[in-house]
Amino acid sequence: MAFEGLAEKLQGIFKNLRGKGKISEKDVTEAMREIRMALLEADVNYKVVKDFVNRVKERAVGVEVLESLTPGQQVIKVVHDEMTQLMGGTQSKINLASKPPTIVMMVGLQGSGKTTSSGKLARLFKKQGRRPLLVACDIYRPAAIKQLQVLGEQLEIPVFSMGDKQNPVDIAKAARAYAENQGHDLMIVDTAGRLHIDDALMSELENIKTNIRPHEILLVVDAMTGQDAVNVAETFNARLGLDGVILTKLDGDTRGGAALSVKAVTGKPIKFVGMGEKLDALEPFYPDRMASRILGMGDVLTLIEKAQANFDAKKAEELERKLRKAEFTLEDFLDQIQQMKSMGPLSELMGMLPGMGQMKALKGMEISEKDVKHTEAIIRSMTREERRHPEIINGSRRKRIALGSGTSVQEVNKLLKQFEQAQKMMKQIAQMQQGAKSGKKGG
Ligand code: GDP
Repeated sequence: MAFEGLAEKLQGIFKNLRGKGKISEKDVTEAMREIRMALLEADVNYKVVKDFVNRVKERAVGVEVLESLTPGQQVIKVVHDEMTQLMGGTQSKINLASKPPTIVMMVGLQGSGKTTSSGKLARLFKKQGRRPLLVACDIYRPAAIKQLQVLGEQLEIPVFSMGDKQNPVDIAKAARAYAENQGHDLMIVDTAGRLHIDDALMSELENIKTNIRPHEILLVVDAMTGQDAVNVAETFNARLGLDGVILTKLDGDTRGGAALSVKAVTGKPIKFVGMGEKLDALEPFYPDRMASRILGMGDVLTLIEKAQANFDAKKAEELERKLRKAEFTLEDFLDQIQQMKSMGPLSELMGMLPGMGQMKALKGMEISEKDVKHTEAIIRSMTREERRHPEIINGSRRKRIALGSGTSVQEVNKLLKQFEQAQKMMKQIAQMQQGAKSGKKGG
């Protein structure tokens, strides 16, 4: 999971601070030194680190922090605020044209995830009720056009292509005429990439820009490349004038440096993050939520949004209420397992819960179809009373349930054990959420 090392270190530093009733300027200085190291190790740009630490320190040694009743929490709040600012403060959206079609030009190096992100972005817009058109302007990379066409087919979004014999500028111009004609209110232009930045590529992109005047130029960069991603962003921005960045592969093992440095170094905000290879794995970027994730406060909002996107709002609200109150029965357990299956790997979801991101045991854990079937069969073989009060399920009940569900007593035992653990976890989450909340309010 992204940010793992950084999150672990920062949380360790905070734990120390929180434990102290009173903190001195020296404690703050020590914590800042550790934070500085942690950020550098996470491959955050050194100048960004220096400025960040200075700002946090200046605020943290202020009277209102050190003299407050919860100085540790206050310092964490300052770090959270400054980290949010570092990543742009608030969410940055795509510029939409006052007169459609909106033209979004996607640029980036080869392998950054440009074509995939074009498809993902088109999908997001389609979900918002728009009529996107994908435009294939990468005429150099073998199979790039085909790749976009396959994505278009999967997403049921039309793809405009003129093969690889035409000039990309002409293709883009023809695509705009086509979009206007066919009532597409948005077009996403997938341009060519190279393995490295070169002048010919930049000239071609400039040429496309001048000719089609995009409303939005988005650079796609791979988070795994760390500071290189930031350097690439700087170069592209200098030549093309970017509007924003899509940071891909944040689901991987990235140390996080790029996410924390891009805005500060280039002045351009991250607008979306790629969280996986699947076409629904593109999320709008919210600096405050990302800061919460990095600081181990969780990202319950994104989790709830994911839940809402996948099933009805009522159920999501109910889930949130139950999570908060730690009221959770086997019936809910079954419900959740089924619903979570549609939301993505459990390990990723857990990363969004406060304090859960670091649980090593959850890494790579996924729910298989077979597990779900068995779980469902077992819970269905229980009486209502048993589902609500599993503690009454004794030996003979276990046998009956195993028989009824076509499973074994061992499997019933395993499920009950898992449920017990899940319940414990829910309680912890509820407690931690309360902790994180009061921390945010500063009380
Ligand atoms: P392009 O050369 O920039 O057009 O790159 P592609 O769109 O072909 O993507 C390169 C590879 O990165 C493909 O295997 C994608 O599936 C993968 N990829 C793209 N975005 C993500 C992401 O957010 N997470 C992960 N794990 N893989 C991604």
